[in-house]
Amino acid sequence: MSIDEYLQSLIPERNGLIAEMEEYARLHNVPIMEPEGMETLLQILRLKNPQAILEVGAAIGYSALRMAEAFPNVKIVTIERDEERIGVAKENISKACAQDRVILIEGDALEVTESIKDYGTFDAIFIDAAKGQYRKFFELYEPFLNDSGIIVTDNVLFKGLVAVPEEEIEPRRIRSLVRKIKEYNVWLHNHPDYDTVILPIGDGVAISKHRGQRK
Ligand code: SAH
Ligand code: MG
Repeated sequence: MSIDEYLQSLIPERNGLIAEMEEYARLHNVPIMEPEGMETLLQILRLKNPQAILEVGAAIGYSALRMAEAFPNVKIVTIERDEERIGVAKENISKACAQDRVILIEGDALEVTESIKDYGTFDAIFIDAAKGQYRKFFELYEPFLNDSGIIVTDNVLFKGLVAVPEEEIEPRRIRSLVRKIKEYNVWLHNHPDYDTVILPIGDGVAISKHRGQRK
């Protein structure tokens, strides 16, 4: 058994709507957070005790509803551009009776920055959308983060490919995506306003904490 499998075996089974969503994701190849990554994200958020969270990449609303369940009084704004997933996410959000505090913004995260302004600032931002655009998402939404807030980015180890010599990575499209993630990770680690650590959990989770005193 690998350490990953062992850690996964410790996580209690989910049930009800959450379990249904996991099954849907498996059947339809929706890349929702893996169990250890999800638990890690929730734990980091518990330490932060947020009031408002912004998510880039809702998919079918799985991680948004996990956060909503973990924090009953928190407002979650989440962005998704895929029509089909938007439909499924809406259904799930209403099944969870969470419409009043899980707000789904329909559109491309690179274009909907204006509508996010209406929802104020956030204590945490979770970036989990197109890997090639991570730095853009970070730069676009980071101004909405409160002093000392945290930004969590998923999939920053890209199935371990970040540690594989580039010339061995095929096809070319994946190679260039890996390069972008690696550039993002370096950029994050050198950001003057944030301290960043990557946890090798799930598909790699980067935790960036704002140093405080925003300009
Ligand atoms: N956070 C979700 C999984 C998100 S999967 C969970 O763990 O449950 C990534 C999602 O980001 C996909 O559904 C994809 O359609 C969406 N996405 C990718 N690029 C985007 C963009 N530029 N704007 C909005 N959504 C985007
Ligand atoms: Mg992810």
